[in-house]
Amino acid sequence: MKEELALLIQLQTMDLKRQKDREILESFPEKMAIAEKPLLDARSELEEARATLKVITQERKEKELALQVIEDKIVKLKLRLTDLKTNKEYHAHLQEIAAARNSKSEIEDQLITAMDEAERLTEEISEKETTLSKDEAEFSEIKKEMQAEMDAVASTVAEIEAEWQATAEKISKNLLSSYQRLFTSNKGLAVVPVNGFTCTGCHFSLPPQLIAEVKRQEKVLTCGYCHRILYAKPVEEAAK
Ligand SMILES: [Zn+2]
Repeated sequence: MKEELALLIQLQTMDLKRQKDREILESFPEKMAIAEKPLLDARSELEEARATLKVITQERKEKELALQVIEDKIVKLKLRLTDLKTNKEYHAHLQEIAAARNSKSEIEDQLITAMDEAERLTEEISEKETTLSKDEAEFSEIKKEMQAEMDAVASTVAEIEAEWQATAEKISKNLLSSYQRLFTSNKGLAVVPVNGFTCTGCHFSLPPQLIAEVKRQEKVLTCGYCHRILYAKPVEEAAK
């Protein structure tokens, strides 16, 4: 029984390690996503700036066209000045020319604003592109490191799995299944040492008679409160 207890303790150590490794593996996608987040943000910011530049470029073209139209109009209005007969007509026509010139000047201002904005955006995009390609290279390194770390954990899991199987084969079926049931229901501790008269699983005091039997290690004994399998400290040392 002493040997089986030692094997159970070994099995428990492996199960605890497996549990931890599984948690590490499960946390990888989230860790990767957190590492990639700034990159995704930078990409969408760049896309946004490119889209804005496209809109402004389109606006600029429209303003250029409008400017052309108003310039043509002014030329035509000026040509018609000589055809006018009355003073009244002449003044009205001059007013029309003045109004056209005002619109022209407004369009010119808008065009300058659009050109400035386009220039600013072009610079911004170029800066963002440089930063992004640097960040992308950095993330690719981080990703590689994380992948290697993950592969290492996965290979440890495989090693432990093989060792676990080999150890489990040496334990009687009944004891193994009650261990597994306890391990699952007690979140990781199925076999616990006694400390003086106390079960270290639930911290309740146990009858001295039970403690004496545990120390004799002749059969599998469990705590009356938490049902965990009990052992006396030297078995733990034997398991190491
Ligand atoms: Zn207990």
